[in-house]
Amino acid sequence: MSIRENLLRIKADLGENVSLVAVSKYHSKEEIMQAYRAGQRIFGESKIQAMTEKYAQLPKDIQWHMIGHTQTNKVKYMAPYVSLIHSVDSLKLLSEINLQAQKNNRIIDFLFQIRIAQEQTKFGLSEDELLDILSSADFEQMQHIRPRGIMGMATNTDNPAQIKQEFLYAKSVFEMVKNKLHTRANIDTLSMGMSGDYQIAVACGSTMVRIGSAVFEEN
Ligand SMILES: *Cc1c(COP(=O)(O)O)cnc(C)c1O
Repeated sequence: MSIRENLLRIKADLGENVSLVAVSKYHSKEEIMQAYRAGQRIFGESKIQAMTEKYAQLPKDIQWHMIGHTQTNKVKYMAPYVSLIHSVDSLKLLSEINLQAQKNNRIIDFLFQIRIAQEQTKFGLSEDELLDILSSADFEQMQHIRPRGIMGMATNTDNPAQIKQEFLYAKSVFEMVKNKLHTRANIDTLSMGMSGDYQIAVACGSTMVRIGSAVFEEN
């Protein structure tokens, strides 16, 4: 299967209402260009430096999404061009994004990363930590960031019932955020689902999947 065939098959699975982030973190510019020529425009990277190098060298109509854990001191490198940050997990990180967005005279879209998995190793906010941020005066005053929704990663397990339970929990947090922020923002993005679990994620209400190996590797 070529990258083009992989993309066609996945897109047929997703239908019209779910957008596809092709996760290119382990893949070269040549492979990204194969996906680009097949019509793919959204790519996800987990390291700011690698993403910035690819951004500099690849077509400017690519939308770059940051999906990895983000260090505050590196936000400035992606602030001029990043299209969506999926991995906001603290108020401190959010204030730096707001500051760097202001310096670049733009508004940066982002998602709150929520810890939905039972694995303790995964990054992300608990629902209580998220509520604290949403009700803080600092958050209210940030004019250069735009919340779009939440991102979650399910436990890496063969048990589909557990994955489904975690995605349904993410969906409930998404609905909560939507209600809480309805006067401030249009909360329209629930980023969940990877190569191994995106069908379950879509069934649970995902609006955006992040798929790496199923796009770029032989299946
Ligand atoms: C790597 C990664 C993905 C893609 O994983 P695949 O299993 O290759 O589809 C999705 N989301 C995040 C946050 C990742 O780091």
